[in-house]
Amino acid sequence: MIRTARPTEIEAWWERWPDANVGVVTGWVSAVAVVDVDPRHGGDTKLAALEAKEQPLPPTVTSMTGGGGRHLYFTHPTHLVPSRPIASGVDLKAEGGLVVVPPSRHSSGGTYRWLDGHGPDQLVPAPLPPWLDHLAVALDESRSAGPGATIARTADERALFAALWSDTGIELQPVEFMARCPFHDDHHPSLHIDPDGCRWFCFGCRRGGGIQALRHLVEPDDDDSTPLPAAVPSELSEAPTLRPNVEVEVVGESNHQDALLALTGGRRTWSGAHRRVQARLEPEDDNPFDPQAVAVTIEDNLVGHLPRPAARLYRPIIEESIRNSGVATCRAEIRGGWERAHGDVGRFGVVLRLPRTAGNQ
Ligand SMILES: [Zn+2]
Repeated sequence: MIRTARPTEIEAWWERWPDANVGVVTGWVSAVAVVDVDPRHGGDTKLAALEAKEQPLPPTVTSMTGGGGRHLYFTHPTHLVPSRPIASGVDLKAEGGLVVVPPSRHSSGGTYRWLDGHGPDQLVPAPLPPWLDHLAVALDESRSAGPGATIARTADERALFAALWSDTGIELQPVEFMARCPFHDDHHPSLHIDPDGCRWFCFGCRRGGGIQALRHLVEPDDDDSTPLPAAVPSELSEAPTLRPNVEVEVVGESNHQDALLALTGGRRTWSGAHRRVQARLEPEDDNPFDPQAVAVTIEDNLVGHLPRPAARLYRPIIEESIRNSGVATCRAEIRGGWERAHGDVGRFGVVLRLPRTAGNQ
């Protein structure tokens, strides 16, 4: 059984379902964060070393897992904290995590039980110590910004990010760095900036986010909504020369993110952009990789190409349209390009609506 609950409800479950396997979803939704210590992977010694370096963990609600491990229950802070390993054998279960609670049975045959004197009826869960929260966020950011991570930021966005920081007196460095935060009275560098992913987080005042969050602070007078592109372009009122029956995704769009950013007028917060446009299809006989290639342009910006099989399928139709009408145009939609919390940045994509053919009935 999977349920979400506040820590005080855990005991109530135990009374209601004494034979059930009961779990709690950790994270902001339940206000529970759990430190999972697995001694088989050195979790006991690693956690002791962290406590010696940072601060001992306060007494809190604790269960023995039935497999030899321990679960330490804390109240979750009001902001999002990632779920992730923080040392070998030590996992922080926060956003989107899940733990099994007493009296469930462990796969090894043992039973989860509350540690003597540390049950939810004996102790109130302590707040998650800030050092654990900071460590999880810092580890998470360094992992996702590490080499090989694809961060869907365009050159334009990186330039804007640098310009906004420059307004606060901070000049960006080529790689991630710590700086003194301009948004609170910071005596040590508490501000982590990732220039590549255009992400930032201050461990002092806990402000952070991406470009829009920074803009709110640096240019507070500006309208905070990203400007939408000007009215529907007149060409959309013209019928496309190709009938809109099936969806085909454009490829190579990752090389044209700057153009797509400009066409949509900026990123959106949650599901990203959904801009309906007219696209032009242009045969590229001189394409060095594929003489059958078909380029896709939107408002005179190259945004990608048809996938190879689609190019072969549609070339005859496109060429016929160009002979008859001078152009080959189709309905299209620019999607994606969101910017959410914790550096979750989506790339823009383009979907075309093309005629049904014998090849894609
Ligand atoms: Zn700060």
